[in-house]
Amino acid sequence: MNILVINCGSSSLKYQLIDSISEKVLAKGICERIGNQGSRIVYQPAGGEKEITEAPMPTHKNAIQMVLDSLVNETTGVIKDLSEVGAVGHRIVHGGEKFNASVVLTEEVIKEIEACNELAPLHNPANIIGINACRELMPNTPMVGVFDTAFHQTMPERAYIYGLPYKFYTDYKIRRYGFHGTSHSFVSKKGAELAGLDINHSKIIVCHLGNGASICAVENGKSIDTSMGLTPLEGLVMGTRSGDIDPAIVEFIGKKENASIDRVMDILNKESGVLGISGISSDFRDLEKASEEGDEHATRAREVFCYRAAKVIGGYIAALHGVDLICFTAGLGENDAGIRKGICSYLDYMGIQLDDEVNNSHRAVDVKLSTPDSKVQVWMVPTNEELAIAKETLALLK
Ligand code: AMP
Repeated sequence: MNILVINCGSSSLKYQLIDSISEKVLAKGICERIGNQGSRIVYQPAGGEKEITEAPMPTHKNAIQMVLDSLVNETTGVIKDLSEVGAVGHRIVHGGEKFNASVVLTEEVIKEIEACNELAPLHNPANIIGINACRELMPNTPMVGVFDTAFHQTMPERAYIYGLPYKFYTDYKIRRYGFHGTSHSFVSKKGAELAGLDINHSKIIVCHLGNGASICAVENGKSIDTSMGLTPLEGLVMGTRSGDIDPAIVEFIGKKENASIDRVMDILNKESGVLGISGISSDFRDLEKASEEGDEHATRAREVFCYRAAKVIGGYIAALHGVDLICFTAGLGENDAGIRKGICSYLDYMGIQLDDEVNNSHRAVDVKLSTPDSKVQVWMVPTNEELAIAKETLALLK
């Protein structure tokens, strides 16, 4: 069965058409700047050239229509007809406590997902826009939602309960949920395989370091703790998100800047992180360049990022009572050798050693980064959330 995987953001939409039997990607691409001027679709059939077409896409429905048109295009398409799309798998960021596994999307389920919107205001509303657009254009195709939170539902209570009055958990379900679950699940399994570990007897720390970043402690294949919390704002310093701060800072900024809570939350979500620290960019490539040119703000931002990530890893080594394998994944984890090195340099007391030559010369491939005598294996394991979503979708429909 061919499965169309959709990862819908507020102004972009990533897609892949995957043959779920062979696990091959038939076509993939991205629609960018949806709802803005200069919108375009990037379409790449397997083994073919990347095509970039600029076209107006005022809504996500227009974008999905363009994706479907590309897939059935007479010359560059990969299927004859849309009936060859057996199902659509949607990435959904927040499933609250309601969803501890993937689910077939019905009207009722979508309403329940909408109820989680306030928990992931940057992501869930966009996910739902994508779902609704697909349902309008493909009313008879089954749709499945795969949640970033579901993998973390195995966390023990001691990891997900906050130091707040317990009634906030019972009344409002305020607790740690964690995100990037599809990626943490995929990378921990793949990493165990690559490192020659039995996943059922393993202690793995996955560092998903992208614009959004989180670290997960995986014991015997199950998430036992993760750095994001009720929302994707907690944990590491990220591209634009603050990660952990003293909660009293919210009131402090509000009073100093005469700002509403909404405004302060906007600052924490969109104007903080390495963008906020550096005042330059949320993109680590820009920061690396600026740092190399001697910009101390960029250097500081990268150093804070590495230090904070290393502290979380240290904490998870305690939570796991040890560690067999550390995996780096996502945009930064797969591409930024300096960040991997910066983080691992804090772990040398444990006998964790990176092979600098391997670390500096590989991008986005499965590769062992640690030296042969490193006490813990360190691997780069490119994430493949789309394939994981396709597999989940297929499993559920079966
Ligand atoms: P993601 O959210 O996983 O797409 O990761 C996005 C971040 O990864 C960007 O903000 C960049 O900082 C970083 N990144 C992506 N590609 C590269 C690259 N080739 N070299 C260094 N950093 C990269």
